[in-house]
Amino acid sequence: MAALNDFARLLRRAGVVGAGGAGFPSYIKASSNADTVIVNAAECEPLLQKDQEILAHFAPEVICGLELLVSATGAGRGVIAIKEKHENLVRILEKAIAGKKALSIHRLGDYYPAGDEFCQVFEITGRLIPMGGIPIDVGVVVNNVETVFNMAQADRTPVVDTFLTVTGAVKKPCTLRLPVGTSMAQAVALAGGATAKDCVALDGGAMMGKVVSDFSQPLTKTSGGMIILPAGHPLVRRKNAGRSAFDRAGKSACDQCTLCTELCPRYLLGYAIQPHKVMRGLLFSASDRKTWNQWALLCCECKLCSLYACPENLSPGDICGFAKADLAAEQVRWKNSPLNQGQAPREHPIRPWRKIPISQLKARLGLEDFEAEAPLRQEPYAPPAVRIPLRQHVGVPARPVVAVGQAVKRGDLIGHVPEDQLGVPVHASISGQVTAVKDFVEITA
Ligand code: SF4
Ligand code: SF4
Repeated sequence: MAALNDFARLLRRAGVVGAGGAGFPSYIKASSNADTVIVNAAECEPLLQKDQEILAHFAPEVICGLELLVSATGAGRGVIAIKEKHENLVRILEKAIAGKKALSIHRLGDYYPAGDEFCQVFEITGRLIPMGGIPIDVGVVVNNVETVFNMAQADRTPVVDTFLTVTGAVKKPCTLRLPVGTSMAQAVALAGGATAKDCVALDGGAMMGKVVSDFSQPLTKTSGGMIILPAGHPLVRRKNAGRSAFDRAGKSACDQCTLCTELCPRYLLGYAIQPHKVMRGLLFSASDRKTWNQWALLCCECKLCSLYACPENLSPGDICGFAKADLAAEQVRWKNSPLNQGQAPREHPIRPWRKIPISQLKARLGLEDFEAEAPLRQEPYAPPAVRIPLRQHVGVPARPVVAVGQAVKRGDLIGHVPEDQLGVPVHASISGQVTAVKDFVEITA
């Protein structure tokens, strides 16, 4: 890893991680050398709006974070990638970057997954990330809107709040800014409560999110949205089916039509991924299946194949996820896979005509009835208690540095990660007294 620059050190101290995904520590990206920095404002998970709301209310802060990152990475340009349909936001951003020659706006179409960083890097730079690679391999750093917002705050406050949209079957869909560690139940209550009795949340979105039924779970730095749905909604039933049901249905009903592959956004960019071959592997013994499973190694789990492409309602995207996990358990990754022949990706000529409009996706997911504005609620919320996980990031978990009974103030360090290890510290999101320390720190106001 490159030596940390001042900005990267600041981001590490402030606990900044990628707010839109697995929580990759941002100081790593900030200490790399890039020629282009992209702010990913595509937000293509249906119904989620938190990035739009952050831009509507905090565009100058986001631009400030982008400029700091451009400067730290030595990049010559910073690009905000946003869907063309958000005309108001594009106008706000144009005003915010006026006179800043290194910054520009890239207008994206309204398709899924416009936010996939491989697609986005290609759309903006014309470069294809090598197979098994990451954006910096082609000189690009990509961060989502909230991450860049947090970067702009890092010299004043560590990351103690998270933004999320709460929508779906709730009385008042909204976007909230809440202390990290607030419970999902409190977020739903702030959105007016659920409109049906037996509801679950799609945590992170309809496509890539997971079904959560225990609303006592805490929000983390990477929480981005909760779509509340009745437990009997077809999308929930589909996501809840589980591996053995996915395998059984796949074995008996996949007719190898190849539509899952034909619409796979990574396949269309020229990557060695073919979900129909992973499905074919279901018919083979465990050892032979391993060979077929390697066609899943470059899957980004966007679930377009499962939730849109397959005419039989099978789940090739989920099967690819299991295949990758099985291969990882046997230490098989792209770099040591026999499929890896050092080949370079090459865009499929038909790709521009195979982008899936969000409107069609919403209809297929059965979410049209839940279409609603989810404006940012500005008033601060003080939860009576928070439960802050010590691992909200890629890397080693933070080690607690507080004890039960200790008084803490919002912003105080409560979990530490040694300098030589990958990870970031964790901070108190409210002032109060520490009431439990396990793999989380509970603070009661
Ligand atoms: S689209 Fe469905 S039926 Fe067709 S190959 Fe893929 S998993 Fe099988
Ligand atoms: S989930 Fe399906 S569509 Fe998405 S990258 Fe994986 S195989 Fe392709």
